[in-house]
Formats: sequence, structure tokens, C-alpha cells
Amino acid sequence: MSITTSLAGKTAVITGSNSGIGLGIARELARAGADVVLNSFTDSADDHALAASIGEEFGVTARYIRADMSKGEDCRALIEQAGACDILVNNAGIQHVAPVDEFPTSKWDAIIAINLSSAFHTTAAALPKMRAAGWGRVINIASAHGLTASPYKSAYVAAKHGIVGFSKVVALETAEEPITCNSVCPGYVLTPLVEAQIPDQMKTHSMSREDVIKKVMLDRQPSREFATVEQMGGTVVFLCSDYAAQITGTAISVDGGWTAL
Ligand code: NAD
Repeated sequence: MSITTSLAGKTAVITGSNSGIGLGIARELARAGADVVLNSFTDSADDHALAASIGEEFGVTARYIRADMSKGEDCRALIEQAGACDILVNNAGIQHVAPVDEFPTSKWDAIIAINLSSAFHTTAAALPKMRAAGWGRVINIASAHGLTASPYKSAYVAAKHGIVGFSKVVALETAEEPITCNSVCPGYVLTPLVEAQIPDQMKTHSMSREDVIKKVMLDRQPSREFATVEQMGGTVVFLCSDYAAQITGTAISVDGGWTAL
């Protein structure tokens, strides 16, 4: 069998990809040659310009399609509008932190819809396209919180454990086809959102940037290093390669040892 790591000719849809990890994944997939569809719930000139800049940088077709991942019909419409969908990366996600007995129902519903149910809708819409194309990859961005828990994150932990379980079921239903489904479980990743919290934390704790990162933010990440969006993208590209054709139904941790504790 000849091995290829090039994704030229494949189309990848990445939900929630106008910032952070999703954008990093879109960039690495484009670097590997895939045409990419970026997505979020906004529809600004910046969103479309971001897609255009990726297309120009990597010489691929890059589009931006607005769709709200909290709505099932939008999730399915995203896949329809994408046309081809060989690679589906379910990445859109939000967070809310509160004790269970104070957790707002609206936040619970939104987290379950965006972090979990969206993946059901997009996957259901994408699988027939992958079957018709004779190849497919579904990659769900879960979290270390898909394998372990923290207090005050009930909806997030429930949704992320759910996405790990959902990935296993899709893997079993496609096991005899050239389609794989896996989840990726990041630890703490340095995104613009996380970077923006560092100055405040330095003030609150009267600590240096380095101490805030190592002693406050990364207290559960044994490497004491953030994972990067490029490392998330590289893991996704690997799962799309021929090397990973027999990797299905698993959860790959990229967490500096968090879940080994
Ligand atoms: P982020 O806030 O930078 O990105 C989230 C993306 O989802 C954005 O593009 C946002 O526009 C999009 N989004 C939010 N609501 C949406 C909706 N209703 N419809 C469509 N798009 C929507 O956050 P991130 O850190 O890049 O997180 C990306 C994924 O990685 C999430 O699923 C998150 O749970 C997971 N994750 C992040 C970390 C981390 O440390 N940053 C760790 C583990 C897992």
C-alpha cells in the first residue's frame, strides 16, 4: 500500500474555526493540501477575509460558511452548503462554570447543544457524503474533560464525555468502511482567549507571567507547558493520513500528561 500524508483533493469542514483551536486546525489541514470550510455563527467581512487569507497562504480553496452550531438545522445546512465533506472536525464549543445547583438551565442547554448535539447533526449529514466518496474522517475535539472531571463544569464535562462516547459509536458503525471517527482530548491550549487572561491573573496573584502559567493555569498539566493550536492541527492531520487508517473509536490525549495523573 502506498502511504500518503497529502490531503490534496479532500474538503475539510471545521466547525467553530474563526479563532483558537479550530482556526489552528483549519490552517494545518490547509497546509497539508486540503480545501477548507471555516465556520462560526457570525458573518462578518473579517470571517470571509480570514478564509481568503488561508486560501492564499496555502494555495487551497478556503471558504467561510455561517451556521449556528446551537441549531440542528444550521448544522445540517453547513454540511449541505459545503458540497463535499471528506473531513469533518467538530470543534465548536463554549464553557460556563457554576455549581450544579446554581447552573443556569439556559447555559446547560447551550453547552449540550453546541458541544455535543451539533456533532450528531453534522456527522449524520456528512456520513452519506463520505460513503459516496469512499473515504472519510470524523474528528471530534473533546477535552481532557472528556476523560476526567473538574468541579463546577457539569455541562461541559457531560458534553465532552458524551462526545467521546458518540465518537466510539460512529467508529463502530463505520468500522468496515474506509471511514474513521476519533476524538482528540486537549489539555490547556494557548489560544487568544487564554492569553488574554494572563495579565489579570498576574495582577490577582501578584505573580510573574511564568509563575501564573506554571503554578496557576497549568497546575493540573504535568508538563507545565500549554499545548498549542498547531499541535492540535498536527494531530488532526495525522488522523487524516493513511498512517491512521486503523485508528478509530479512540480518544487521543494531547494534554501534557494531565490524564495520566
Ligand atoms: P474559542 O472560543 O477560541 O473557539 C471556539 C470557536 O467556536 C470559535 O470559533 C467560536 O466562534 C465558535 N463558536 C462558539 N459558539 C458557536 C456557535 N453557536 N456556532 C458556531 N460556532 C460557535 O475556544 P477554543 O479554546 O479554541 O476551543 C475550541 C474547542 O476546543 C472547544 O470545543 C473547546 O471545548 C475545546 N478545548 C479547548 C481547550 C483550551 O484550553 N483552549 C482545552 C480543551 C478543549
